[in-house]
Amino acid sequence: MASELEPEVPAIDQSLLECSAEETAGKWLQSTDLTREVYQHLAHYVPKIYCRGPNPFPQREDMLAQLVLLGPMEWYICGEDPAFGFPKLEQANKPSHLCGRVFKVGEPTYSCRDCAVDPTCVLCMECFLGSIHRDHRYRMTTSGGGGFCDCGDTEAWKEGPYCEKHKLNTSEIEEEEDPLIHLPEDVITRTYNIFAIMFHYAVEILTWEKESELPADLEMVEKTDTYYCMLFNDEVHTYEQVIYTLQKAVNCTQKEAIGFATTVDRDGRRSVRYGDFPYCEQAKSVIVRNTSRQTKPLKVQVMHSSIVAHQNFGLKLLSWLGSIIGYSDGLRRILCQVGLQEGPDGENSSLVDRLMLNDSKLWKGARSVYHQLFMSSLLMDLKYKKLFAVRFAKNYERLQSDYVTDDHDREFSVADLSVQIFTVPSLARMLITEENLLTIIIKTFMDHLRHRDAQGRFQFERYTALQAFKFRRVQSLILDLKYVLISKPTEWSDDLRQKFLEGFDAFLELLKCMQGMDPVTRQVGQHIEMEPEWEAAFTLQMKLTHVISMMQDWCALDEKVLIEAYKKCLAVLMHCHGGFTDGEQPVTLSICGHSVETIRYCVSQEKVSIHLPVSRLLAGLHVLLSKSEVAYKFPELLPLSELSPPMLIEHPLRCLVLCAQVHAGMWRRNGFSLVNQIYYYHNVKCRREMFDKDIIMLQTGVSMMDPNHFLMIMLSRFELYQIFSTPDYGKRLSSEITHKDVVQQNNTLIEEMLYLIIMLVGERFSPGVGQVNATDEIKREIIHQLSIKPMAHSELIKSLPEDENKETGMESVIEAVAHFKTFFFPPRKPGLTGRGMYELKPECAKEFNLYFYHFSRAEQSKAEEAQRKLKRQNREDTALPPPILPPFCPLFASLVNILQSDVMLYIIRTILHWAVEHNGYAWSESMLQRVLHLIGMALQEEKQHLENVMEEHVVTFTFAQKISKPGEAPNNSPSILAMLETLQNAPYLEVHKDMIRWILKTFNAIKKMRESSSASSVAETEGTITEESSRDKDKAERKRKAEIARLRREKVMAQMSEMQRNFIDENKDLFQQTVAEEASNSAVLDNSPMVSDTTLTALGPAQTQVPKQRQFVTCILCQEEQEVKVESKAMVLAAFVQRSTVLSKNRNKVIQDPEKYDPLFMHPDLSCGTHTGSCGHVMHAHCWQRYFDSVQAKEQRRQQRLRLHTSYDVENGEFLCPLCECLSNTVIPLLLPPRNIFNKLNFSDQPNLTQWIRTISQQTKALQILRKEESIPNIASSKNSENMDELQLPEGFRPDFHPKNPYSDSIKEMLTTFGTATYKVGLKVHPNEEDPRVPIMCWGSCAYTIQSIERILSDEDKPLFGPLPCRLDDCLRSLTRFAAAHWTVALLSVVQGHFCKLFALLVPNDNYGDLPCILDIDMFHLLVGLVLAFPALQCQDFSGISLGTGDLHIFHLVTMAHIIQILLTSCTEENEMDQETPAGEEELAVLALYKTLRQYTGSALKEIPSGWHLWRSVRAGIMPFLKCSALFFHYLNGVPSPPEIQVSGTSHFEHLCNYLSLPNNLICLFQENSEITKLLIESWCQHIEVKRYLEGERDAISYPRESNKLIDLPEDYSSLINQASNFSCPKSGGDKSRTPTLCLVCGTLLCSQSYCCQTELEGEDVGACTAHTYSCGSGVGIFLRVRECQVLFLAGKTKGCFYSPPYLDDYGETDQGLRRGNPLHLCKERFKKIQKLWHQHSITEEIGHAQEANQTLVGIDWQHL
Ligand SMILES: [Zn+2]
Ligand SMILES: [Zn+2]
Ligand SMILES: [Zn+2]
Ligand SMILES: [Zn+2]
Ligand SMILES: [Zn+2]
Ligand SMILES: [Zn+2]
Ligand SMILES: [Zn+2]
Repeated sequence: MASELEPEVPAIDQSLLECSAEETAGKWLQSTDLTREVYQHLAHYVPKIYCRGPNPFPQREDMLAQLVLLGPMEWYICGEDPAFGFPKLEQANKPSHLCGRVFKVGEPTYSCRDCAVDPTCVLCMECFLGSIHRDHRYRMTTSGGGGFCDCGDTEAWKEGPYCEKHKLNTSEIEEEEDPLIHLPEDVITRTYNIFAIMFHYAVEILTWEKESELPADLEMVEKTDTYYCMLFNDEVHTYEQVIYTLQKAVNCTQKEAIGFATTVDRDGRRSVRYGDFPYCEQAKSVIVRNTSRQTKPLKVQVMHSSIVAHQNFGLKLLSWLGSIIGYSDGLRRILCQVGLQEGPDGENSSLVDRLMLNDSKLWKGARSVYHQLFMSSLLMDLKYKKLFAVRFAKNYERLQSDYVTDDHDREFSVADLSVQIFTVPSLARMLITEENLLTIIIKTFMDHLRHRDAQGRFQFERYTALQAFKFRRVQSLILDLKYVLISKPTEWSDDLRQKFLEGFDAFLELLKCMQGMDPVTRQVGQHIEMEPEWEAAFTLQMKLTHVISMMQDWCALDEKVLIEAYKKCLAVLMHCHGGFTDGEQPVTLSICGHSVETIRYCVSQEKVSIHLPVSRLLAGLHVLLSKSEVAYKFPELLPLSELSPPMLIEHPLRCLVLCAQVHAGMWRRNGFSLVNQIYYYHNVKCRREMFDKDIIMLQTGVSMMDPNHFLMIMLSRFELYQIFSTPDYGKRLSSEITHKDVVQQNNTLIEEMLYLIIMLVGERFSPGVGQVNATDEIKREIIHQLSIKPMAHSELIKSLPEDENKETGMESVIEAVAHFKTFFFPPRKPGLTGRGMYELKPECAKEFNLYFYHFSRAEQSKAEEAQRKLKRQNREDTALPPPILPPFCPLFASLVNILQSDVMLYIIRTILHWAVEHNGYAWSESMLQRVLHLIGMALQEEKQHLENVMEEHVVTFTFAQKISKPGEAPNNSPSILAMLETLQNAPYLEVHKDMIRWILKTFNAIKKMRESSSASSVAETEGTITEESSRDKDKAERKRKAEIARLRREKVMAQMSEMQRNFIDENKDLFQQTVAEEASNSAVLDNSPMVSDTTLTALGPAQTQVPKQRQFVTCILCQEEQEVKVESKAMVLAAFVQRSTVLSKNRNKVIQDPEKYDPLFMHPDLSCGTHTGSCGHVMHAHCWQRYFDSVQAKEQRRQQRLRLHTSYDVENGEFLCPLCECLSNTVIPLLLPPRNIFNKLNFSDQPNLTQWIRTISQQTKALQILRKEESIPNIASSKNSENMDELQLPEGFRPDFHPKNPYSDSIKEMLTTFGTATYKVGLKVHPNEEDPRVPIMCWGSCAYTIQSIERILSDEDKPLFGPLPCRLDDCLRSLTRFAAAHWTVALLSVVQGHFCKLFALLVPNDNYGDLPCILDIDMFHLLVGLVLAFPALQCQDFSGISLGTGDLHIFHLVTMAHIIQILLTSCTEENEMDQETPAGEEELAVLALYKTLRQYTGSALKEIPSGWHLWRSVRAGIMPFLKCSALFFHYLNGVPSPPEIQVSGTSHFEHLCNYLSLPNNLICLFQENSEITKLLIESWCQHIEVKRYLEGERDAISYPRESNKLIDLPEDYSSLINQASNFSCPKSGGDKSRTPTLCLVCGTLLCSQSYCCQTELEGEDVGACTAHTYSCGSGVGIFLRVRECQVLFLAGKTKGCFYSPPYLDDYGETDQGLRRGNPLHLCKERFKKIQKLWHQHSITEEIGHAQEANQTLVGIDWQHL
């Protein structure tokens, strides 16, 4: 049944139409048992209205439902005609100040970055535009559907909660006012009654689970037994599977199946069969069988039609309720009451509860209907929003579990409403204190993550795909947690404290399960077999990152909470570490007389984990203790004595050692999973709660320890203790050559360890660790990012951590540290032009720290290089000393002592000693560099102390003193200072000299500060001396660098030529010699100066004679040079022929049947032309053939092997130019001016126009008779002979003469090749070189290409013969000459036939009946056709008329016709005002001509008294034609262009006329040949179409034709989004399109990339865009994908690419995919660039290049877009 194409529409039951709503309502009012009455009504009528056949008829159903079912309810509520009743209610209502607009999919939403409480607070476009936020920093996104506008919600906005529109009523609001007081008492009662019954009915029927039985009170008396086979949507099966299955199961067409599948996907269910039970059951079993193979089967139910009917009405009813409550807040309040009223079954029995709890059982369509009702009722009523929130929280666990097991996306789950509730601060707080929401969420989350190991930690190893799927769904709970925490409390009640801490406990439990998860053990010997799973754990960590930070933020707000949280966290950590000192015997370490006990543990041998969230949380809390000063205020309340520093540092230290060892290459065999983990550990997304906190934890521990002890433990964990405790260990190592790897490893470990010390002492920019604030921290991040290189806004944002509001805080500090620079001169506003960059302010460079802890290694070396370069440019020494640091907070103050501790000095001394004795030891420069940095830090520290010292204090930091003392061990070693002085002169340490010099200088300064306060001046002079000498050194350095650069350049050149050689080797069959310079044909003709001052004439008997020039070109393939000659081998240009609608004035016109289409006369709307382009590269024809054959062979092999796509379609003759890879599909032969070959002797006596027309007419008539005779050889021979008698061959005309083709075979072959290609592409037909239309297509392509180039030049205001790009010049020349020579390879009679017909259009001839009128002819195409076909006639004419004469007369004749065409179509608006000068010659002439014209048109033309405007319009209208003609004859005959036209400026009208051998007063053409012109004009005007036009019955193109432009785009991108969001799919009844896509050529919006709008094109399914390109752009399309903000280029079915959009943000950047959401504005320059690509016909070429550059583009299914 489903396969019936025209579903039968059952007749409407007349009784339904006779129902009176008023009567029914009246009956109900009288009724004692209203419920029964209403149910009976529904039971009777609903099945009569809904589900009367296999297909729904929504409009009819809605109409009847309103009439019979809903109408009575409205009457009942109002107690009168609802048409009066509802408006009354609406008037009495005090409208809400909440907007509450529910967002459609794709609608733009706006959030204010300054005022929104969190990023989920959004405004609709209308509210946004009327709000104060439009001038703030806002962010724009497109809604995914669901959610509503927060305008008017005072809790959502810090400022400006109301827009203009919603502000109106705010003055009168009393928050708690009961909206019911505005309703009459009786209305309240009646509404309550009917709402209760109907809401109950809807809930009951929607949640009804029986398939063939109705609730008792709805059962009908007479029951017809019809069923539906109902197919439900799931997220497991694909569209294709469903469509395929349906075709099999219910025997429908593919189109119907697509329709079903689309509806199932959209609404969640659709009946696919209607009939009796077995019939439906059979379809069900087929579907189930077909879909159950790999997955669970599609859900199908056979349902009784009356159940479906009631369910459909149930949905209708819910929407109806939603619209009724829109009349009055009172009605809304009643509905809320009804919904939340507890039913007879107690807890969870209210209607709202029942719906929520059945959510996952309902189909998609039903869910979204009731979700929307909730949003417009419960969430819009302040009182009931709270009550609903409580219900939601109470059911939370159950709802989430339902969601996790359900397979629908979250947006279709009621659980998704959490964002609407939890983000309201007052509700969230209420739910935390009253419903213990925090704990519930966390516990629910934990319940769903059940993979644990023996220690109770999470374990994700080997978890299944299903678990992975669930894990993804569970993650949404973390989002809920984030919503609840996002707004922080301003006041704490005891209740809140208690409940928060309870939640904190639960949270610690969660973190405990993560502490130590996914441990790794170093793999030795063999490589691991399988990469272990690591992503799940990191996903969890990443998702929790903001929650962890927010937990800390909450703790920071209340001292009591902070103290309690700290205690709890510490307890959990101790519990985690229980048994941490167990096991092996402790070991004792001792160096320099210090000794410490520690456990025996080796990272490289035992288990270690990168996940330590508990210890990291404690670190965070510890910093808060310091920052909030709680640590000093209430030390007695804190468990500080329980802290065991060695325990605190142990795990973070292991983790950092792990990183160091991985870096040292010790963990190579553990594979990529570990590398990835370490990458994320440091990555900007995770580091805040991972790496950063580990550093802080170490700082915490160390600040409480003896630094010597710490350093020894650290040496031991780095497994370096032995090296440093054993004298000369390094020496021994270096001598063992076999252990080179070990040496290298140890060196790296030492470097890493030194780096760690630098970080522990130097990283003081977290508030609480150092005396800084949050701003200082961000500033420092930005300074270091910009030290690497200047960055664009988005790039910089990406490198900074975002907080939970997606803010980096960058805007607040960026001005202070950077300049925004655009790379334009003069500078312009970046938003309009291009991308700008932030550049670090020079004064910030001194804050640069080479060992900044967030640098990756690559960034560090880039930054070092950049900073040194900068210093050299500023002529400073290149030392990069440590910056001056802010002081530590007191809790961390003792950290500085690491630097002057004995063990530290010992380490420094040891390494310096190695460096001094550089040959004997294993050491590295990086090691030394770090040591120097550490010394520098210590000196900076001491200097700071000295400068800030209070009078009475003694500075205890005495590093300077310590380094000047000789060391004790190694024995008798010199002091550190002495070693530095030695190193200063070491030749092998050139790079570090500046730094050592800086250290010594600083040391002296400190010494002097200590000695006396007046020493500073001495230090200064010393300083200048050093600087001077360093300047000299600088010079030498620069010289050295220049030399290095030169050498490098030479090396690169050598490499390049090597590469080139390899390339040639690989392509030996193509290249016989080396590829030299790109050789193009040397354009000889144009640049020749020989014809200078005489007036140049391009055509006619007076044509300027150009001396013959030889032309030599080089083949790019074989590098052989060859002369272009008639008889030599053909040389060809790579060319690309394509159909084009770029110039089209009528995009609706398509060639219906290409086989029958006659292209002879081009319509002036230029609706479909053929364009030829070329990259201008020349080859031998035979070289090209060989190349193309090899490409073809290669492609065939390749396709057999792995069916790879390429960017070009070999089967269609496409190839890439072997030199520039430009897409091509044929070649054009290079030719000399062909006219010279055929020009016979010039007789002095040439006919004038009149004579010439007469002669040609005779000739064409003779030919026609001859042809007719040939075609009918024997029949009616008598008549033929009669004709023969009539036929008097004109004098000198010899139709039997056939000229010899002068061209070589190779050239002839290429003439045919290109001709056939043009024909094939232009008409989209199979190649057939004999088709009579081939020559027409060649002429057409020549004409069209010239026209399109003329348009480009005019649009860009460029001179006609200015310096044209070489490739264009070459292309036009060869194209024109080719078209002129093509007749020699065509059948003479065919070309003559074309000429006769073309000629007949201008000079009437009885033999042709149905010719178009002159209004419907493009005159330039006509001219080109006539001129190029003429030689075919002229070659048989021996009367002495030259080709040139013919050209001139043809040109004049066409020009005259064009003038008439212009005069007929110019709609001259009469305004006399500016005619001051007396009428000139031209004006009088044109007026006279116009009068003649009126005479012949029977005065249908408007009378115009003056010639001024006429002449103006003729001049303007004819210009494009003259320009095109000038180009045409220039390339045809090779006459150089007059120098005047080579520059831009005035219109060049006179120059053009001279060049084209036209009188300046064009009207003279008519006067000189008045006898014949009158006849011609008369015949043109008599055409019926001209009459129709003049009588206003049809349109005609007028001149000049305007250039086509891409559509106008709005300045603000959001208005485009808005426009697109209102766009619904044209095929699926009002459904919003998912990928609305705008055609930039014609402005049509399309529903792209979607099944609903696929159509069939040439036997294949294609998407809306591809289909559109076929009519709009002849296969080429330019689109804007509105939701992605991305330009799409398409060409044909297989080619496409994305292109950057013309919209930029204020930082000059595009935002493809709208990920950042900054406001976007139109960039005109970029848009013009796209338009230019289009005008130049370069879209296909652009796609080709993009696909060559990015192979993934080739694989995309472009045809389905
Ligand atoms: Zn709004
Ligand atoms: Zn508003
Ligand atoms: Zn704002
Ligand atoms: Zn060659
Ligand atoms: Zn090329
Ligand atoms: Zn279009
Ligand atoms: Zn569609």
